[in-house]
Amino acid sequence: MTQPYDPQNIFAKILRGEIPAHTVYEDEHTLAFMDVMPQGDGHTLVIPKAPSRGLLDADPAVLGRLFATVQKVAAAAKAAFQADGLVIYQYNEPAGGQTVFHLHVHIVPRFEGVPLRRHAGGMANGELLAAHAKKIRAALSG
Ligand code: AMP
Repeated sequence: MTQPYDPQNIFAKILRGEIPAHTVYEDEHTLAFMDVMPQGDGHTLVIPKAPSRGLLDADPAVLGRLFATVQKVAAAAKAAFQADGLVIYQYNEPAGGQTVFHLHVHIVPRFEGVPLRRHAGGMANGELLAAHAKKIRAALSG
């Protein structure tokens, strides 16, 4: 059974500015920031500002704007890291692998022959994440 949206989830707190994030992009409807436990260098999350738990309870108009930002940030992350490809994924509910219950899309740059690290495996160094966010921001403005 699906639970209702909980406004105390960690991404809602990031949206309210209650906890910090390494932001790479923000507009009226969406926010993109570095995943603190990256599965690869440049692992970025994109979230809508509108509250929804996952894909199924989101307004389709929100999804349209969300994926416009996913495309923009994915192109910048690929360019910033000179990646060979990208994996883009989105989990729904605990059985689907979801651990934070505010809709989010993962963007992970991929390199030939380099495996993905484990999902939510370990915290990355804050300075490294800040440097990676800066690289993606530069690619977005370039
Ligand atoms: P999911 O399993 O799709 O719900 O993944 C949630 C993701 O959020 C994981 O990849 C975590 O590493 C990431 N995460 C958890 N807390 C934070 C945070 N405070 N800032 C950035 N990413 C986070």
